[in-house]
Amino acid sequence: MKIRNKFAFYNIIMLITPILLIGVISVCFLIIFIMKFPVEELNISRASLLDPYVFSKALGEFFDGNPEAIVYMLIWSVICIFILIVTISVTAYFMTRSIEKPIKELAKAADSIKNGNLDFEVMGSDYDEVDKLCSSFDGMRCELKRAKEQEKYMQSERSMLLANISHDIKTPVTSIRGYIDGIRDGIADTPEKMNRYLDTISAKAKTIDDMVNNLSMFSKLELSRLTFEFEFGDINEFLRNFIEDYRLDIEEKGIRLEENIGKNCALVKIDYEKISRVFSNIVDNAVKYRGEKNPEISISSITADGGVYIYVTDNGIGIDSEKINNVFESFYRVDTSRSIKGSGLGLGIAKQIVEKHGGRMWLKSDGVGKGTTAVVYLPLVNKEI
Ligand code: ADP
Repeated sequence: MKIRNKFAFYNIIMLITPILLIGVISVCFLIIFIMKFPVEELNISRASLLDPYVFSKALGEFFDGNPEAIVYMLIWSVICIFILIVTISVTAYFMTRSIEKPIKELAKAADSIKNGNLDFEVMGSDYDEVDKLCSSFDGMRCELKRAKEQEKYMQSERSMLLANISHDIKTPVTSIRGYIDGIRDGIADTPEKMNRYLDTISAKAKTIDDMVNNLSMFSKLELSRLTFEFEFGDINEFLRNFIEDYRLDIEEKGIRLEENIGKNCALVKIDYEKISRVFSNIVDNAVKYRGEKNPEISISSITADGGVYIYVTDNGIGIDSEKINNVFESFYRVDTSRSIKGSGLGLGIAKQIVEKHGGRMWLKSDGVGKGTTAVVYLPLVNKEI
């Protein structure tokens, strides 16, 4: 109910209750009065009712003759005043209490929030306006709680990341050293073996390079220190070159790579180094989170809606629909068991870079085990080349 309506209701109660009670009491008193006192002695005609002088004179004469009637009238007056005071006080009490209670609760809730306690619920109120205020307040509390939990999660993930980074960097470094020792000791005694050793060293060095790049970009993005050097370039040409650079790496892992890049020139505003990072992160994920049976990655692009849509689709482990929107948060990892290594930074960095290009990025998946598609949209620019 609206505050205005409820207050009007209380005012009506405040008016009607004493009138009714006083009315009933007065009727009772009148009956007793008539029975107890000789009212016929009251010599009041209809005409004298309109004349105050005659009327008060007649009353005075009556009360002179019946002094107990004065006491009786006094008792009636006291009871009426008492009824008036009690009903007004009781109604006023309930009226104030009904608005005071939720306001006190809100003040208590604000104090709890100030003291860092967010585990309570702000109850509603009978008043629509106050109820709305209570639910907004409770919404704010839930949001604060969520942000606090998120912050706590991020902090623990940050600490975990620091612990993991040293381990993740140490592993490829150890194996690089192992392979170098192998070469030095003459274990790589044939050109094929030597090539295999060098390829492995190169792959491990790339892993470290990617990790360090992501970390450095993440900290620069966090501090807003990442500078962009934009130029106009054909994204389709870039993608064809990118795929060729990656093809060997991917196919060596037994993954089938399919390409369907638009033949037209799709001119976009581009910082080549940063966009390379975007697609490296996406393709690295498609490789990392591939399925066991017939892994496949397909990269395609189409021009539509004034821009270019680039799709990187894999048939890998997929992502639960409830978690798909969290993957862009820093340090977020769907599988926290670290069965597959990662920092939880790659997609967040990629998304921020795409947005700095005026584009958008999102992920689609039909669910766990059903593959994933990363979609990048970059707006086309109108410039003749
Ligand atoms: P990470 O270094 O952990 O891969 P990302 O930010 O790149 O960090 O990805 C965040 C999380 O999103 C990953 O930990 C993974 O759980 C999920 N993810 C990203 N890409 C894919 C994919 N292609 N298939 C399945 N899961 C993915």
